[in-house]
Amino acid sequence: MNPFSYRDGILHAEEVPLPQVAAAHGTPCYVYSRAALQSRFDEFRRVLAGRDALVCYAVKANSNLAILSLFARAGAGFDIVSGGELARVLAAGGDPAKVVFSGVGKTADEMREALAAGILCFNVESAAELERLNQIAGSLNRRAPVSLRVNPDVDPKTHPYIATGLKSAKFGIPFEEALPLYRRARALPHIDVHGIDCHIGSQLIDPAPAAEAAAKLLGLVDALGAEGIVLSHVDLGGGMGIRYRDEAAPTAAEYLAPLLAVLAGRRERLLFEPGRSLVGNAGVLLTRIEYLKHGGAKSFAVVDAAMNDLMRPALYDAWHDILPVTQTAGAGVEYEIVGPVCESGDFLGHARRLAVAQGDLLAVMSAGAYGMAMSSNYNTRPRAAEVIVDGSQIHLVRERERAGQLFAGERVLP
Ligand SMILES: *Cc1c(COP(=O)(O)O)cnc(C)c1O
Repeated sequence: MNPFSYRDGILHAEEVPLPQVAAAHGTPCYVYSRAALQSRFDEFRRVLAGRDALVCYAVKANSNLAILSLFARAGAGFDIVSGGELARVLAAGGDPAKVVFSGVGKTADEMREALAAGILCFNVESAAELERLNQIAGSLNRRAPVSLRVNPDVDPKTHPYIATGLKSAKFGIPFEEALPLYRRARALPHIDVHGIDCHIGSQLIDPAPAAEAAAKLLGLVDALGAEGIVLSHVDLGGGMGIRYRDEAAPTAAEYLAPLLAVLAGRRERLLFEPGRSLVGNAGVLLTRIEYLKHGGAKSFAVVDAAMNDLMRPALYDAWHDILPVTQTAGAGVEYEIVGPVCESGDFLGHARRLAVAQGDLLAVMSAGAYGMAMSSNYNTRPRAAEVIVDGSQIHLVRERERAGQLFAGERVLP
């Protein structure tokens, strides 16, 4: 489904014309479609129907409570990477027994919080983390459920910043060290060995590397089984890509088919940790043109959203489609779409041909994942509002920040 479409020349989110959102809640503003969020999740569930499988939404892609609560109500589990994300999942009504905890730097406090909450599994990323977890679980008189995140050393063929499964990455346990670490885990008194996981990268268009990783993991599962270390789940992480520009992005069915083929006939429960693919195309960043600048070597459209609101172009040189909210005739001008932040890296798009005027609204498309979640207050810019459109209704799900909130915790010297 495409939740964002033109009707009579005006871009709508579901039934709502985007100018109505801007009038009600201002700009910059993230606008998500409830139907799009729900339908992406349902698609995963349909493909996995009839299997013992759990979809753990990767909270870091977009951690708004309304989105977490929508997925929790749909039956999702969650993949978290911090104690803060655990607090969000619990506040949104998520089931801690469906939470997996990833990340290379879990602190002792985070481990205690997750043990107290009763999470499904710690995805352990190093020998040192395993020892610490055993010690902390012991001090609480508990046993910690673990999976080891194994690094299968496959090339996901994606942007180097989001490739995580290569030997050179900081993530996971090198493949050859996994077996001895499982033996160690089995010997630890406060560790329960439950599973194995991997996450080889993000924005994967071709599922073949993920299928290759799955096959490697299963080889290890069998070797462990032969030693009496029987795993109950296999977690293949997230990483499924979406269409930003002209990528031949797979549907959930297309992406999962080769993975499920590798996993055919297995008795282990399957876990997946999709982030971007559930939310990326379900949201846009709505922004208004403050000024048009002509005359130099280039023309600029200076908008009221900036790199602090949407960091992906500056960080990854990511391409997002940028559409005028109101279509007008005319050849247009090629613009650099830039924000007000004092950095030359502060751009949302290069060389976009648009027929627009000062005061017009633009929609930065495919901004539902790693948009708001990566936003900052650089330049003391209050973060954007977020709304979810549901049919003809607009729900404000995060108020626009006010400048005073940004320095409320600061103190001047006596
Ligand atoms: C970021 C991350 C995900 C989600 O990745 P997407 O590409 O957004 O699907 C899943 N698992 C782990 C461990 C991650 O770090």
